[in-house]
Amino acid sequence: MVTIKSKSEIEKMKEACRIAALAQKAVEEAIKPGISTWELDKIAEETMRKYGAIPAEKGYPSGVKGVPNFPGSICASINDEVIHGIPSKKAILRDGDILSVDLVAYKDGFNGDCARTYLVGNVDKETKKLVEVTKQAFFEGIQYAKKGNRLGDICHAIGEYVESHGYNVVKEFQGHGIGRQMHEDPGIPNYGKAGRGIRLEPGMTLAIEPMVMAGSDEILELDDGWTIVTEDGKNSAHYENTILITENEPEVLTIL
Ligand code: MG
Repeated sequence: MVTIKSKSEIEKMKEACRIAALAQKAVEEAIKPGISTWELDKIAEETMRKYGAIPAEKGYPSGVKGVPNFPGSICASINDEVIHGIPSKKAILRDGDILSVDLVAYKDGFNGDCARTYLVGNVDKETKKLVEVTKQAFFEGIQYAKKGNRLGDICHAIGEYVESHGYNVVKEFQGHGIGRQMHEDPGIPNYGKAGRGIRLEPGMTLAIEPMVMAGSDEILELDDGWTIVTEDGKNSAHYENTILITENEPEVLTIL
């Protein structure tokens, strides 16, 4: 069921999203060669708690027997890690790496979700382009995030843009509705047919999140039960914001 948020619920969504964006900013400012993703995790958690939110990813159930709940406050995925990387003292950033940070702030019953891929030191031109196209794919998609349009219009725009640059979108994971739950209906794939899917209505809050691979579209899951990597070892990038469908243009809630 796709939930339509009331005015007061939207205010709470906006606050959770603002805190998620502040946590991203704090992480961004701390990124440098030599820092571990564990340290960045602590910075994100402290920032969220400072503003009265909790990191919703911490303890998120794996849903798989024998795989522990997610231990981090952020997902920290380096280079060929696509999503769901577990923060670790051993995962130390090096010059030329890219790091995808996906985090969710939960406050007053609502969730705010956003992801960024950061450049660590001097990153080569090819990799920078991957990161830039991934970010732009989000903005290409939300041009269609308007009342009366279909969900597939957004999905189609993202997929077309990514493929026009010779990259692949991840097909096994997708964006999602968001609100009281981190993951609500509808699922929002990064590919699809225009003119298909539900009609967009004011009050819908959606997490739109292109996940893009420089090489083939094959992924693997590591033995930790969480980390998703590209099969060919090529880089991957991620860019996500929580948006609100309105009577007019969409509002991006996780950009300050
Ligand atoms: Mg996310």
